[in-house]
Amino acid sequence: MKGFRVLQLEEHPSVGKPVECTGLVSRRVIEMSRTSSVVNMVHGAHIYFPDDDSIHIRKDEETYVLERDRFDQDVSGLATGAGTDLRLSSTVRNVESGDEGVRVTFREDGDLREESAMAVIGADGANSITRKILFQGMKIARVISAYQIDCAVKMDDQDSVNVYLGSKYSKGFFGWAAPADDLSRIGTAGFGMSREKFISIYSKFGNPSKITITGGPIPISTLERTYGNRVLLAGDAGGIVKPLSGGGIYTGMLSGQKAAETLVSAYENQDFTPAFLRRYEKMWKDEIGKELSRDLRIQKMFARISDASFNEMGRKLSSPGIMKLINDLGDIDYPSSVVFRVLMKSPSIVRHVLFPVRDGIGK
Ligand SMILES: Cc1cc2nc3c(=O)[nH]c(=O)nc-3n(C[C@H](O)[C@H](O)[C@H](O)COP(=O)(O)OP(=O)(O)OC[C@H]3O[C@@H](n4cnc5c(N)ncnc54)[C@H](O)[C@@H]3O)c2cc1C
Repeated sequence: MKGFRVLQLEEHPSVGKPVECTGLVSRRVIEMSRTSSVVNMVHGAHIYFPDDDSIHIRKDEETYVLERDRFDQDVSGLATGAGTDLRLSSTVRNVESGDEGVRVTFREDGDLREESAMAVIGADGANSITRKILFQGMKIARVISAYQIDCAVKMDDQDSVNVYLGSKYSKGFFGWAAPADDLSRIGTAGFGMSREKFISIYSKFGNPSKITITGGPIPISTLERTYGNRVLLAGDAGGIVKPLSGGGIYTGMLSGQKAAETLVSAYENQDFTPAFLRRYEKMWKDEIGKELSRDLRIQKMFARISDASFNEMGRKLSSPGIMKLINDLGDIDYPSSVVFRVLMKSPSIVRHVLFPVRDGIGK
Protein backbone atom coordinates (compact mmCIF):
# COMPACT_ATOMS: atom_id res chain seq x y z
CA MET A 1 0.00 0.00 0.00
CA LYS A 2 3.09 2.22 0.31
CA GLY A 3 1.37 4.42 2.90
CA PHE A 4 -1.64 5.30 0.73
CA ARG A 5 -5.20 5.29 1.98
CA VAL A 6 -7.21 3.22 -0.48
CA LEU A 7 -10.98 2.95 -0.46
CA GLN A 8 -12.63 0.13 -2.41
CA LEU A 9 -16.36 0.46 -3.11
CA GLU A 10 -18.32 -2.69 -4.00
CA GLU A 11 -22.01 -2.52 -4.77
CA HIS A 12 -22.82 -6.08 -3.69
CA PRO A 13 -23.13 -7.23 -0.05
CA SER A 14 -20.40 -9.83 -0.57
CA VAL A 15 -17.26 -10.03 -2.69
CA GLY A 16 -17.41 -12.26 -5.77
CA LYS A 17 -21.18 -12.66 -5.95
CA PRO A 18 -23.01 -13.02 -8.21
CA VAL A 19 -20.56 -15.16 -10.20
CA GLU A 20 -20.40 -14.28 -13.91
CA CYS A 21 -17.54 -16.45 -15.08
CA THR A 22 -16.39 -19.92 -16.13
CA GLY A 23 -13.19 -19.50 -14.18
CA LEU A 24 -10.68 -20.74 -16.77
CA VAL A 25 -7.26 -19.18 -16.29
CA SER A 26 -3.59 -19.77 -17.00
CA ARG A 27 -0.79 -20.40 -14.53
CA ARG A 28 0.04 -16.67 -14.68
CA VAL A 29 -3.18 -15.84 -12.81
CA ILE A 30 -2.46 -18.44 -10.14
CA GLU A 31 1.01 -16.97 -9.62
CA MET A 32 -0.29 -13.39 -9.49
CA SER A 33 -3.09 -14.18 -7.05
CA ARG A 34 -1.76 -17.05 -4.91
CA THR A 35 -5.39 -18.22 -4.82
CA SER A 36 -6.60 -21.47 -3.31
CA SER A 37 -9.83 -21.47 -5.34
CA VAL A 38 -8.76 -24.03 -7.98
CA VAL A 39 -11.41 -26.76 -8.40
CA ASN A 40 -9.93 -28.52 -11.41
CA MET A 41 -7.10 -28.50 -13.93
CA VAL A 42 -7.45 -29.37 -17.60
CA HIS A 43 -4.89 -30.13 -20.30
CA GLY A 44 -7.03 -30.47 -23.39
CA ALA A 45 -10.03 -29.39 -25.40
CA HIS A 46 -12.58 -31.32 -27.43
CA ILE A 47 -13.48 -29.06 -30.34
CA TYR A 48 -16.90 -29.81 -31.85
CA PHE A 49 -17.67 -28.69 -35.40
CA PRO A 50 -21.10 -27.96 -36.88
CA ASP A 51 -21.30 -31.41 -38.54
CA ASP A 52 -20.77 -32.97 -35.05
CA ASP A 53 -17.27 -34.17 -35.89
CA SER A 54 -14.80 -33.39 -33.15
CA ILE A 55 -11.07 -33.29 -32.57
CA HIS A 56 -9.14 -33.39 -29.32
CA ILE A 57 -6.22 -31.07 -28.75
CA ARG A 58 -3.87 -31.41 -25.81
CA LYS A 59 -1.30 -29.30 -24.06
CA ASP A 60 1.24 -30.40 -21.49
CA GLU A 61 0.67 -27.20 -19.54
CA GLU A 62 -2.46 -27.04 -17.43
CA THR A 63 -5.34 -24.58 -17.55
CA TYR A 64 -6.99 -24.00 -14.18
CA VAL A 65 -10.71 -24.01 -13.41
CA LEU A 66 -11.43 -21.62 -10.54
CA GLU A 67 -14.34 -21.15 -8.21
CA ARG A 68 -14.67 -17.53 -9.23
CA ASP A 69 -16.33 -16.15 -6.07
CA ARG A 70 -13.64 -17.71 -3.88
CA PHE A 71 -10.98 -16.37 -6.24
CA ASP A 72 -12.36 -12.82 -5.91
CA GLN A 73 -12.45 -13.23 -2.14
CA ASP A 74 -8.79 -14.37 -2.12
CA VAL A 75 -7.70 -11.40 -4.22
CA SER A 76 -9.81 -9.02 -2.17
CA GLY A 77 -8.21 -10.51 0.95
CA LEU A 78 -4.78 -9.54 -0.40
CA ALA A 79 -5.99 -5.94 -0.77
CA THR A 80 -7.71 -5.67 2.61
CA GLY A 81 -4.77 -7.46 4.25
CA ALA A 82 -2.55 -4.69 2.87
CA GLY A 83 -4.82 -2.04 4.40
CA THR A 84 -7.50 -1.28 1.77
CA ASP A 85 -10.76 -0.06 3.29
CA LEU A 86 -13.38 -2.29 1.60
CA ARG A 87 -16.95 -1.00 1.79
CA LEU A 88 -19.64 -3.47 0.72
CA SER A 89 -23.21 -2.60 -0.36
CA SER A 90 -21.75 0.68 -1.63
CA THR A 91 -22.92 1.62 -5.11
CA VAL A 92 -21.15 4.43 -6.91
CA ARG A 93 -23.65 6.94 -8.28
CA ASN A 94 -21.39 9.73 -9.47
CA VAL A 95 -17.71 10.51 -10.01
CA GLU A 96 -16.46 14.05 -10.51
CA SER A 97 -12.91 14.86 -11.43
CA GLY A 98 -11.43 18.36 -11.02
CA ASP A 99 -8.11 20.17 -10.53
CA GLU A 100 -7.99 19.40 -6.81
CA GLY A 101 -9.11 15.78 -6.78
CA VAL A 102 -11.99 13.42 -7.45
CA ARG A 103 -15.25 13.27 -5.59
CA VAL A 104 -17.17 10.00 -5.53
CA THR A 105 -20.82 9.87 -4.50
CA PHE A 106 -22.12 6.45 -3.47
CA ARG A 107 -25.07 4.86 -1.77
CA GLU A 108 -23.98 2.75 1.20
CA ASP A 109 -26.72 0.71 2.90
CA GLY A 110 -29.31 3.20 1.67
CA ASP A 111 -27.45 6.38 2.72
CA LEU A 112 -25.92 8.74 0.19
CA ARG A 113 -22.26 9.44 1.03
CA GLU A 114 -19.32 11.24 -0.51
CA GLU A 115 -15.57 10.66 -0.43
CA SER A 116 -12.72 12.63 -1.95
CA ALA A 117 -9.49 11.23 -3.33
CA MET A 118 -6.44 12.15 -5.38
CA ALA A 119 -7.50 9.73 -8.15
CA VAL A 120 -9.86 6.90 -8.99
CA ILE A 121 -9.40 3.54 -10.70
CA GLY A 122 -12.59 2.45 -12.44
CA ALA A 123 -12.43 -1.34 -12.08
CA ASP A 124 -16.20 -1.51 -12.18
CA GLY A 125 -16.77 -3.99 -14.96
CA ALA A 126 -18.39 -4.07 -18.37
CA ASN A 127 -21.10 -1.53 -17.49
CA SER A 128 -18.63 0.79 -15.72
CA ILE A 129 -20.23 3.93 -14.36
CA THR A 130 -16.77 5.51 -14.17
CA ARG A 131 -16.42 5.05 -17.93
CA LYS A 132 -19.92 6.34 -18.62
CA ILE A 133 -19.38 9.53 -16.60
CA LEU A 134 -15.70 10.40 -17.11
CA PHE A 135 -15.20 9.03 -20.65
CA GLN A 136 -18.34 10.43 -22.20
CA GLY A 137 -18.65 9.97 -25.92
CA MET A 138 -16.40 6.88 -25.91
CA LYS A 139 -17.88 3.46 -26.43
CA ILE A 140 -16.48 -0.04 -26.46
CA ALA A 141 -16.94 -1.02 -30.08
CA ARG A 142 -17.22 -4.80 -29.81
CA VAL A 143 -19.24 -6.43 -27.06
CA ILE A 144 -20.50 -10.00 -26.93
CA SER A 145 -23.11 -11.36 -24.58
CA ALA A 146 -22.54 -14.52 -22.62
CA TYR A 147 -24.97 -16.94 -20.98
CA GLN A 148 -23.91 -19.79 -18.72
CA ILE A 149 -25.53 -22.32 -16.43
CA ASP A 150 -23.77 -24.38 -13.79
CA CYS A 151 -25.37 -27.79 -14.28
CA ALA A 152 -25.58 -30.83 -12.05
CA VAL A 153 -23.76 -33.15 -14.41
CA LYS A 154 -20.24 -34.54 -14.23
CA MET A 155 -18.39 -34.48 -17.55
CA ASP A 156 -16.78 -37.82 -18.47
CA ASP A 157 -13.48 -36.18 -19.36
CA GLN A 158 -12.48 -34.02 -16.40
CA ASP A 159 -9.20 -33.16 -18.12
CA SER A 160 -10.67 -31.29 -21.11
CA VAL A 161 -13.05 -28.45 -21.85
CA ASN A 162 -15.53 -28.76 -24.72
CA VAL A 163 -15.64 -26.00 -27.32
CA TYR A 164 -18.57 -25.79 -29.77
CA LEU A 165 -18.13 -24.00 -33.11
CA GLY A 166 -20.74 -22.99 -35.64
CA SER A 167 -24.06 -21.20 -35.99
CA LYS A 168 -26.00 -23.83 -33.98
CA TYR A 169 -23.98 -22.90 -30.92
CA SER A 170 -23.07 -19.24 -31.32
CA LYS A 171 -23.29 -16.22 -33.54
CA GLY A 172 -19.70 -15.18 -34.16
CA PHE A 173 -18.09 -16.67 -31.05
CA PHE A 174 -18.33 -20.15 -29.48
CA GLY A 175 -20.04 -22.27 -26.89
CA TRP A 176 -18.37 -24.27 -24.13
CA ALA A 177 -18.68 -26.82 -21.36
CA ALA A 178 -16.07 -26.82 -18.60
CA PRO A 179 -15.66 -29.60 -16.04
CA ALA A 180 -15.72 -28.40 -12.45
CA ASP A 181 -15.78 -31.71 -10.61
CA ASP A 182 -19.43 -32.71 -9.96
CA LEU A 183 -20.70 -29.66 -11.85
CA SER A 184 -20.29 -28.56 -15.43
CA ARG A 185 -20.31 -24.94 -16.58
CA ILE A 186 -22.18 -24.93 -19.84
CA GLY A 187 -22.46 -21.72 -21.80
CA THR A 188 -22.25 -19.80 -25.01
CA ALA A 189 -21.37 -16.28 -26.07
CA GLY A 190 -21.86 -14.30 -29.21
CA PHE A 191 -23.31 -11.28 -30.94
CA GLY A 192 -27.02 -10.92 -30.22
CA MET A 193 -27.01 -14.36 -28.67
CA SER A 194 -30.22 -16.36 -28.51
CA ARG A 195 -31.40 -18.92 -25.98
CA GLU A 196 -31.65 -21.63 -28.66
CA LYS A 197 -27.88 -21.58 -29.09
CA PHE A 198 -27.45 -22.45 -25.44
CA ILE A 199 -30.07 -25.19 -25.64
CA SER A 200 -28.14 -26.91 -28.48
CA ILE A 201 -25.24 -27.48 -26.08
CA TYR A 202 -27.23 -28.04 -22.91
CA SER A 203 -29.38 -30.75 -24.53
CA LYS A 204 -26.24 -32.75 -25.37
CA PHE A 205 -25.87 -33.32 -21.63
CA GLY A 206 -29.43 -34.65 -21.25
CA ASN A 207 -30.91 -31.35 -19.93
CA PRO A 208 -29.42 -31.67 -16.40
CA SER A 209 -30.65 -29.75 -13.34
CA LYS A 210 -29.67 -26.11 -13.32
CA ILE A 211 -27.77 -24.85 -10.30
CA THR A 212 -26.92 -21.24 -11.20
CA ILE A 213 -27.80 -19.17 -14.22
CA THR A 214 -25.43 -16.37 -15.06
CA GLY A 215 -24.31 -14.18 -17.93
CA GLY A 216 -23.68 -10.70 -19.13
CA PRO A 217 -21.84 -8.55 -21.60
CA ILE A 218 -18.13 -9.07 -22.30
CA PRO A 219 -16.31 -6.17 -23.96
CA ILE A 220 -13.78 -7.64 -26.39
CA SER A 221 -12.24 -4.48 -27.79
CA THR A 222 -10.41 -1.83 -25.83
CA LEU A 223 -11.64 1.70 -25.30
CA GLU A 224 -9.73 4.24 -27.42
CA ARG A 225 -8.27 5.71 -24.20
CA THR A 226 -8.06 4.17 -20.71
CA TYR A 227 -6.77 7.20 -18.76
CA GLY A 228 -8.08 10.69 -18.11
CA ASN A 229 -7.81 13.47 -15.56
CA ARG A 230 -7.20 11.67 -12.23
CA VAL A 231 -8.82 8.49 -13.57
CA LEU A 232 -7.72 5.13 -14.95
CA LEU A 233 -9.89 2.30 -16.25
CA ALA A 234 -8.81 -1.30 -15.57
CA GLY A 235 -10.16 -4.66 -16.76
CA ASP A 236 -13.60 -4.88 -18.38
CA ALA A 237 -14.27 -1.20 -17.69
CA GLY A 238 -11.62 -0.31 -20.28
CA GLY A 239 -12.35 -3.30 -22.55
CA ILE A 240 -9.00 -4.83 -21.56
CA VAL A 241 -10.13 -8.37 -22.30
CA LYS A 242 -8.86 -11.16 -24.57
CA PRO A 243 -10.91 -10.87 -27.79
CA LEU A 244 -10.60 -14.49 -28.88
CA SER A 245 -11.81 -16.11 -25.64
CA GLY A 246 -13.59 -13.28 -23.80
CA GLY A 247 -11.28 -14.03 -20.88
CA GLY A 248 -10.66 -11.00 -18.71
CA ILE A 249 -9.23 -12.24 -15.42
CA TYR A 250 -5.57 -12.16 -16.49
CA THR A 251 -5.91 -8.86 -18.35
CA GLY A 252 -7.90 -7.37 -15.46
CA MET A 253 -5.20 -8.27 -12.96
CA LEU A 254 -2.42 -7.08 -15.23
CA SER A 255 -4.08 -3.72 -15.91
CA GLY A 256 -5.01 -3.36 -12.24
CA GLN A 257 -1.36 -3.80 -11.25
CA LYS A 258 -0.22 -1.24 -13.83
CA ALA A 259 -2.90 1.17 -12.65
CA ALA A 260 -1.67 0.90 -9.04
CA GLU A 261 1.98 1.41 -10.09
CA THR A 262 0.99 4.44 -12.17
CA LEU A 263 -0.84 6.10 -9.28
CA VAL A 264 2.17 5.56 -6.99
CA SER A 265 4.39 7.49 -9.40
CA ALA A 266 1.65 10.07 -10.02
CA TYR A 267 1.55 10.69 -6.28
CA GLU A 268 5.33 10.90 -6.03
CA ASN A 269 5.33 13.44 -8.88
CA GLN A 270 2.13 15.15 -7.67
CA ASP A 271 0.87 14.94 -11.22
CA PHE A 272 -2.50 13.34 -12.00
CA THR A 273 -3.00 14.97 -15.39
CA PRO A 274 -3.82 12.90 -18.48
CA ALA A 275 -0.36 13.80 -19.84
CA PHE A 276 1.21 11.98 -16.88
CA LEU A 277 -1.33 9.17 -16.55
CA ARG A 278 -1.00 8.15 -20.20
CA ARG A 279 2.02 6.07 -19.09
CA TYR A 280 -0.54 3.64 -17.62
CA GLU A 281 -1.82 2.81 -21.08
CA LYS A 282 1.71 2.44 -22.39
CA MET A 283 2.55 0.09 -19.51
CA TRP A 284 -0.33 -2.33 -20.05
CA LYS A 285 -0.04 -2.10 -23.82
CA ASP A 286 3.69 -2.91 -23.64
CA GLU A 287 2.73 -6.22 -22.03
CA ILE A 288 -0.43 -7.20 -23.86
CA GLY A 289 -1.50 -4.42 -26.25
CA LYS A 290 -0.07 -5.96 -29.42
CA GLU A 291 -1.56 -9.33 -28.54
CA LEU A 292 -5.02 -7.85 -27.94
CA SER A 293 -5.04 -5.98 -31.24
CA ARG A 294 -3.83 -9.04 -33.18
CA ASP A 295 -6.45 -11.19 -31.44
CA LEU A 296 -9.17 -8.67 -32.25
CA ARG A 297 -8.26 -8.84 -35.94
CA ILE A 298 -8.38 -12.64 -35.79
CA GLN A 299 -11.71 -12.53 -33.90
CA LYS A 300 -13.26 -10.36 -36.62
CA MET A 301 -12.27 -12.95 -39.23
CA PHE A 302 -13.32 -15.85 -37.00
CA ALA A 303 -16.79 -14.31 -36.57
CA ARG A 304 -17.35 -14.58 -40.34
CA ILE A 305 -16.41 -18.25 -40.73
CA SER A 306 -19.29 -20.29 -42.12
CA ASP A 307 -20.36 -23.71 -40.84
CA ALA A 308 -19.11 -25.32 -44.06
CA SER A 309 -15.69 -23.74 -43.57
CA PHE A 310 -15.55 -24.77 -39.91
CA ASN A 311 -16.20 -28.37 -40.98
CA GLU A 312 -13.42 -28.24 -43.58
CA MET A 313 -11.05 -26.62 -41.09
CA GLY A 314 -11.78 -29.34 -38.54
CA ARG A 315 -10.45 -31.99 -40.92
CA LYS A 316 -7.24 -29.99 -41.54
CA LEU A 317 -6.65 -29.19 -37.87
CA SER A 318 -6.51 -32.83 -36.88
CA SER A 319 -3.19 -33.43 -38.70
CA PRO A 320 -0.35 -34.52 -36.36
CA GLY A 321 1.85 -31.54 -37.40
CA ILE A 322 -0.79 -29.02 -36.39
CA MET A 323 -1.57 -30.87 -33.16
CA LYS A 324 2.12 -30.65 -32.25
CA LEU A 325 2.19 -26.93 -33.03
CA ILE A 326 -0.78 -26.36 -30.73
CA ASN A 327 0.83 -28.38 -27.98
CA ASP A 328 4.16 -26.57 -28.35
CA LEU A 329 2.92 -23.00 -28.80
CA GLY A 330 -0.65 -22.78 -27.50
CA ASP A 331 -1.04 -20.14 -24.79
CA ILE A 332 -4.50 -19.05 -23.65
CA ASP A 333 -3.29 -15.54 -22.78
CA TYR A 334 -1.24 -15.02 -25.94
CA PRO A 335 -2.97 -17.13 -28.62
CA SER A 336 -2.06 -15.15 -31.78
CA SER A 337 1.32 -16.78 -32.40
CA VAL A 338 -0.13 -20.30 -32.53
CA VAL A 339 -2.98 -19.08 -34.78
CA PHE A 340 -0.50 -17.52 -37.22
CA ARG A 341 1.75 -20.60 -37.20
CA VAL A 342 -1.22 -22.89 -37.85
CA LEU A 343 -2.32 -20.65 -40.74
CA MET A 344 1.20 -20.65 -42.19
CA LYS A 345 1.38 -24.42 -41.99
CA SER A 346 -1.98 -24.96 -43.62
CA PRO A 347 -2.75 -22.44 -46.40
CA SER A 348 -6.13 -24.07 -47.08
CA ILE A 349 -7.22 -22.99 -43.59
CA VAL A 350 -6.24 -19.42 -44.52
CA ARG A 351 -8.60 -19.68 -47.50
CA HIS A 352 -11.44 -20.70 -45.18
CA VAL A 353 -10.69 -17.88 -42.77
CA LEU A 354 -10.38 -15.18 -45.43
CA PHE A 355 -12.98 -16.51 -47.88
CA PRO A 356 -15.42 -18.67 -45.91
CA VAL A 357 -17.29 -21.21 -48.04
CA ARG A 358 -20.97 -20.33 -48.05
CA ASP A 359 -23.13 -22.79 -46.12
CA GLY A 360 -24.71 -25.38 -48.34
CA ILE A 361 -21.76 -25.21 -50.75
CA GLY A 362 -18.69 -27.37 -50.57
CA LYS A 363 -19.92 -29.58 -47.73
C1 LIG B 1 -20.39 -16.13 -18.57
C2 LIG B 1 -19.00 -15.59 -18.49
C3 LIG B 1 -17.91 -16.46 -18.44
C4 LIG B 1 -16.59 -15.96 -18.35
N1 LIG B 1 -15.55 -16.85 -18.26
C5 LIG B 1 -14.28 -16.40 -18.11
C6 LIG B 1 -13.19 -17.30 -17.96
O1 LIG B 1 -13.36 -18.52 -17.95
N2 LIG B 1 -11.93 -16.79 -17.79
C7 LIG B 1 -11.70 -15.43 -17.80
O2 LIG B 1 -10.54 -15.02 -17.68
N3 LIG B 1 -12.73 -14.56 -17.94
C8 LIG B 1 -14.00 -14.99 -18.09
N4 LIG B 1 -15.05 -14.11 -18.21
C9 LIG B 1 -14.75 -12.66 -18.21
C10 LIG B 1 -14.43 -12.21 -16.79
O3 LIG B 1 -15.45 -12.64 -15.92
C11 LIG B 1 -14.30 -10.69 -16.75
O4 LIG B 1 -13.49 -10.26 -17.82
C12 LIG B 1 -13.68 -10.26 -15.42
O5 LIG B 1 -14.53 -10.57 -14.37
C13 LIG B 1 -13.41 -8.75 -15.44
O6 LIG B 1 -12.99 -8.36 -14.17
P1 LIG B 1 -13.22 -6.86 -13.72
O7 LIG B 1 -12.67 -6.77 -12.34
O8 LIG B 1 -12.74 -5.91 -14.76
O9 LIG B 1 -14.81 -6.68 -13.68
P2 LIG B 1 -15.86 -7.45 -12.78
O10 LIG B 1 -15.42 -8.80 -12.45
O11 LIG B 1 -17.17 -7.27 -13.47
O12 LIG B 1 -15.85 -6.62 -11.41
C14 LIG B 1 -16.42 -5.34 -11.33
C15 LIG B 1 -16.83 -5.11 -9.89
O13 LIG B 1 -17.29 -3.79 -9.76
C16 LIG B 1 -18.51 -3.80 -9.03
N5 LIG B 1 -19.30 -2.64 -9.48
C17 LIG B 1 -19.81 -2.40 -10.71
N6 LIG B 1 -20.44 -1.22 -10.74
C18 LIG B 1 -20.33 -0.70 -9.50
C19 LIG B 1 -20.80 0.51 -8.91
N7 LIG B 1 -21.50 1.43 -9.59
N8 LIG B 1 -20.50 0.74 -7.59
C20 LIG B 1 -19.78 -0.17 -6.87
N9 LIG B 1 -19.32 -1.35 -7.38
C21 LIG B 1 -19.60 -1.60 -8.69
C22 LIG B 1 -19.17 -5.11 -9.39
O14 LIG B 1 -20.11 -5.51 -8.41
C23 LIG B 1 -17.97 -6.04 -9.44
O15 LIG B 1 -17.66 -6.59 -8.20
C24 LIG B 1 -16.37 -14.56 -18.32
C25 LIG B 1 -17.46 -13.68 -18.39
C26 LIG B 1 -18.76 -14.18 -18.46
C27 LIG B 1 -19.92 -13.20 -18.52
